[in-house]
Amino acid sequence: MKEFNFIINGGGCSGLSLAYEMEKRGILDKNKLAIIEIRKNYTRDKTWSFWKIHDHDFNDCVIKTWNTFTIKTKERSNNINIKGQPYQSVDSGLFYKKITDKLSKNKNVKFFKNIDEVDKKNSIIFNSVPREKINKDEICQHFKGIEIETERNTFDDNKLILMDFNCDQKNSIHFFYVLPFSPKRALIETTWLSNLNDKSFLDYDIQLEKYIKSNLQIKNYIIKHEELGKIPLYLSSSNNEENLINIGSAGGMTRISTGYTFLNILEHSKFICNNLHDKKKLMSYKQKSKYIYFDKIFLKVLKNHSELMPDIFLNLFQSNSDSVIKFLSNKSNFIDDIKVILNTKHKMKFLNSLIP
Ligand SMILES: Cc1cc2nc3c(=O)[nH]c(=O)nc-3n(C[C@H](O)[C@H](O)[C@H](O)COP(=O)(O)OP(=O)(O)OC[C@H]3O[C@@H](n4cnc5c(N)ncnc54)[C@H](O)[C@@H]3O)c2cc1C
Repeated sequence: MKEFNFIINGGGCSGLSLAYEMEKRGILDKNKLAIIEIRKNYTRDKTWSFWKIHDHDFNDCVIKTWNTFTIKTKERSNNINIKGQPYQSVDSGLFYKKITDKLSKNKNVKFFKNIDEVDKKNSIIFNSVPREKINKDEICQHFKGIEIETERNTFDDNKLILMDFNCDQKNSIHFFYVLPFSPKRALIETTWLSNLNDKSFLDYDIQLEKYIKSNLQIKNYIIKHEELGKIPLYLSSSNNEENLINIGSAGGMTRISTGYTFLNILEHSKFICNNLHDKKKLMSYKQKSKYIYFDKIFLKVLKNHSELMPDIFLNLFQSNSDSVIKFLSNKSNFIDDIKVILNTKHKMKFLNSLIP
């Protein structure tokens, strides 16, 4: 069995992002890397969207950038212009291709299907394969998205709909997310924040058809792409060990209030490459504790007062949207945090949630 300096278990978003960063910095000129990936081939399976709060290496994989987004409830609609940090969507297919093309030129990088094919004794292992099943009683962000194409110009592609709560909530939290990539093409997602016990939330195709026909008033369209998602809104309990560092969602890189993970993954990859020789530092990396703390309180309110969520989200961005975006992207300072707290409606419910 071959020995490797590094093993990346799971060559998805975080695994490939880490391999890319290692290759870019020349770390793989002298070190051998094994990537263990179960999938047969890389095709677009996800669309990663985020506020671009700092530059990144994947501008060539971006499908679209927006400077305005909307949040809607049954009663009101709020348009938010974003000044310094536009919203972007990355095509995972282009991301995988860019990185696998780059890695294929390096003889020190090898792909395997199963971790038992490589000798693990003297390697540092970076693991992105979740080691636990999704807990059915815990809240998940679960969704289905379809990218549709229309014959005529239909969408205003200058503005995305971040959340449209004008739909059946079923005593839970449900919204639609519309990313218009062009006047004729958009990704439309039906998204739920709930545990997975109620199967009546899972008729995603019916929900999508109803929303497209009734809310968006589109009669004829072709489905070009589909994606399904299930993001647990609780932190993974996998702990780092002497020679095993968890990365990606398995490594706690998901913001549990929102599901945003992509930029945290890119940042974690840079951190790992900066600190490869300091295992203690590698093992102790996590999201700032203030975000974990705020998110836990937020999820408590979400579980106990789901009916307030449309109002809370609508008002959150009403003013100081720059601070809110920085907060949701893990880049807020103390002043931003105060502004977010001031913007949050139903503060008493949050205060009550502090009591265990
Ligand atoms: C459909 C979808 C859309 C999302 N959209 C966004 C978004 O818009 N913005 C955002 O910030 N986040 C988003 N996320 C959350 C997060 O960014 C993604 O889940 C991201 O892919 C997480 O990266 P990862 O490396 O942790 O996991 P993955 O990308 O899933 O990588 C894990 C890899 O491990 C492989 N694997 C699994 N089992 C094994 C095994 N036994 N052996 C070897 N390999 C194995 C898988 O095939 C996969 O390639 C989305 C998630 C989903 C599911």
